[in-house]
This record gives sequence, C-alpha cells and structure tokens, in this order.
Amino acid sequence: MSCDCLVVGSGTGGASIARELSKKGKKVTILEAGAYPKLGTEFNALKIYTGGFLSPGEFSKDNVEILRTKMVGGSSVVTYGNGTIALQAEFKSHGVDLEAEFIEAESDLNIVECPEDNMGVRTKLLMKTSQELGYNCMPMPKFIDFTKCRGCGNCVLGCIYGAKWTSRNFIGDSYKHGAKLLTNHFVEEILIQDNQVKGVRTRTPDGMKEIEAETVILAAGGLGTPVILLNSGLEAGSHLFADTLVNTFGVVKDADFSNELSMATIIDDFHDSEGYILSPTMEGPLDLLTDRIPLSKKHVILKLSKLIGVMAKTKDTANGTVFADGSFVKPVPKIDMDKLDKGHERSKDLLLAAGVEPNSVFRTHIRAGHPGGTAGIGRVVNSDLETEVSGLYVCDCSVFPEAPGKPPVLTIVALAKYLAAKLVQ
Ligand SMILES: Cc1cc2nc3c(=O)[nH]c(=O)nc-3n(C[C@H](O)[C@H](O)[C@H](O)COP(=O)(O)OP(=O)(O)OC[C@H]3O[C@@H](n4cnc5c(N)ncnc54)[C@H](O)[C@@H]3O)c2cc1C
Repeated sequence: MSCDCLVVGSGTGGASIARELSKKGKKVTILEAGAYPKLGTEFNALKIYTGGFLSPGEFSKDNVEILRTKMVGGSSVVTYGNGTIALQAEFKSHGVDLEAEFIEAESDLNIVECPEDNMGVRTKLLMKTSQELGYNCMPMPKFIDFTKCRGCGNCVLGCIYGAKWTSRNFIGDSYKHGAKLLTNHFVEEILIQDNQVKGVRTRTPDGMKEIEAETVILAAGGLGTPVILLNSGLEAGSHLFADTLVNTFGVVKDADFSNELSMATIIDDFHDSEGYILSPTMEGPLDLLTDRIPLSKKHVILKLSKLIGVMAKTKDTANGTVFADGSFVKPVPKIDMDKLDKGHERSKDLLLAAGVEPNSVFRTHIRAGHPGGTAGIGRVVNSDLETEVSGLYVCDCSVFPEAPGKPPVLTIVALAKYLAAKLVQ
C-alpha cells in the first residue's frame, strides 16, 4: 500500500494536518493506534484513557500522573473545550510566524467566550469572590457550541451531545476530500533509506504491515511521537513538559450544587508573574476515588453536591524524558513545586472566601494533560517541522519549544496550517 502523505495519529495534530493536506489535493492516509470506543461514562473513560484500572492517567516514576487517550480523535475528545492562543512569540523566535494561522484556527473552531448563561452556580460564586479579591476573572474562550451544550460537566469523558469540537470533526472534513483512516494501526517504526523517509512499519490486528509514502507526518502526541522516533534510531524524548496541575477542593456546608461545565472562567493574572492559571474545576467520582487524596477526605465523593474546586495549572520545567519502551520520568523540581504550592494556596484562599468549611479543604496529587516538547523545534525538528530525515515531519505537541502553561489545542491546529502550506509549496 502507498500514498502521498501518511499521518500517524488522529488527535489534534494528526486530524488537523490531514484536513489541511487533503483539502489541498494530497492523497492522505491516517494511521491510528486506537478505534472508536464508547464515550460518556466514567466506566467507559477507564478504557479510553491510557492508565490502568485504578487511575485514568499513566504515572511517571516521580508520581506525576499524565492523562492522554488512545482512540480516534486522541486527547482532543476529552478536552474541556478551552481554546486560547499559546506560545505565539516563542514559535516566532524559532522562525515560525503563526499570526494568520491563529486567526484561521480560531474561526475553524468557532471559539467563543463561555456565555454567562452557561456558567453554573459554583462558577458564578467563584467569579464573584475572585472579583471581590481583586482578581481579573474572565470567561474562558471555548470551542463549544453552546446551543448544544447541556452543562453536564462530562467534557473529559467525551461529549455525547456533539457540542464540543474534537479532531473527529476534522477527520470528517478530511474524508470529504478523499483521505482514509485506518484504525488499530499502531506505528512502531519509520522506514528510512539513505536519510529519506520511505514509509512506516505498523502493527495491526492482521499482523505487521509496511506502508510506503513520500512524506510521513508524526502526530502521535507528546508521549507517542518520541517512542516512534527512538525506535527508528532517531533522537527524541528529552525536554518533556506536561503543564502540571493541582486541584484544591472544599465543601460548602449548606450547598446543593448540580452538575456544571468545568473551567468556564480563567484567572490569568498570575501566569506571567507566578507561573500558573486558576480555573474552577468540578471532578467526578472517578477522579476523586483515584486521586491520591488523603484517606480522611475520601468521603467527600459522597458530598459531590457540596464540593467546589479550583485548578491551579502551571507552566512547568521541560525536564522529563520519554523512553523507547514508552515509560517516562517527570521530576518536579523545587521551582515547579513552588508554583504548585502557591497556586494551591491562592486556590484555597479563593475557596475560603467563597464560603467553604476550612477543615474540608484538600489538594489532589500532581496531574497533567498537556505532554509535549519531546521532539522540540530547534532540537529534533527545524523551523519547517522536519526531522533530520528528509520527508519525515512532526505535527503535534511534541514540537513545542517549552510548556505553554495554557491549553495547547489552538496552537497545534495553527501549526498544522503552517506545515501544510510549507508541504504544498
Ligand atoms: C483531560 C484533558 C483535558 C484537556 N483539555 C484541554 C482543553 O480544554 N484545551 C486544550 O487546548 N487542550 C486540552 N487538553 C490537551 C489536549 O487534548 C492535547 O494537548 C492535544 O490533544 C494534543 O494533541 P496531539 O496531536 O499532540 O496528541 P493527541 O491528541 O493525544 O493525539 C495523538 C494520537 O496518536 C495516537 N497514537 C499514539 N501512538 C501511536 C502510534 N504509535 N501509532 C499510531 N497512532 C498513535 C493516539 O491514539 C492519539 O489518537 C486536555 C487534555 C486532557 C487529557
């Protein structure tokens, strides 16, 4: 089998580049390791996230949990729908000007600020309290169609109402332009001859297959792409970041909250000065059971209707490493721990001011959902996003020069537009 362009992975980066190239008349085939699992419940979520039965995420040897999924659409399926521009200046300093691409990406994803009518009671309470504390609490820009959103709060289980943009929308567009998607194709290695890409070797339910292509674009994500590169004898895997976060929760004694959209607002005041953003978060029973929270606080899962939380998400140090067997380390140096601690303290103050009972406050273990940097621009890829092997490109979170500390989806979509224009030239 052969094609013009092979795209490895159907998440944010893979589907975006497939859509752009197929629209420009290229013959594109997407190879995706996962399939179309059922979405929408906590039980189903255990099968789509790559962790084990007891936790959705994979733990590093340093006890940092990193969340990602393996399925058609990748982690784009489980986002909160947050769409903000990140790392524009940093990419520009590497010769990649994304200004026009960001404008297009925002329009393609129909980014809108979360309307006040779609904010839940907890979000509004935290917004009012933030304003009283002098914080600039803004509606979060979202790639959610609010005419379809039911405010169920289950974005991270996969939206079953079709309200949230996922990369599956772009796969649909790619089909219309003749692209193909092969599921259950786990790419193990790149075929290279005389420093020129020749195709990939992929594991399928029918055994190993070799697929030829003139151009191969890796988009297997920050934890997946480096594994393929390493197993092909290329350098990758260092400089892993993940935007580490801690959630802080507390109980409001007389409250009876219903489900609501998470991360509907953002406090960006401390991103540049202290290295974190704050946003309201409402976790479900699965998270609270599997979070390594103190045993004495586990009973709060019985009080979900009284629970209110704030996420402190940091821009962490790119100091982790992904290895060829897929395992990874992600140490938390003092500078990052200080950011998490400060973010937690500020979240706690916010919650206390909003009326939570002081002795009910607890923080979760360190989690993250934005792994990247492992095939970074200026190290593994050049400003055309091409590796040292001619015809082999990377288009996902792996190429980020540093942690965004903000939602990465919009930046990845913009990068795909940039790369497609280069490839067609
Ligand atoms: C719970 C959660 C909430 C998030 N919320 C937001 C948000 O609100 N806004 C935002 O901007 N970002 C959010 N993110 C982050 C965002 O989802 C990711 O940064 C983004 O999807 C990364 O895109 P990617 O293309 O790098 O990887 P992915 O989207 O993860 O795609 C990688 C794809 O490659 C496939 N794959 C892996 N290995 C192989 C292989 N060897 N062969 C073939 N296929 C392979 C995977 O199955 C997957 O489909 C969230 C992440 C999580 C986990």
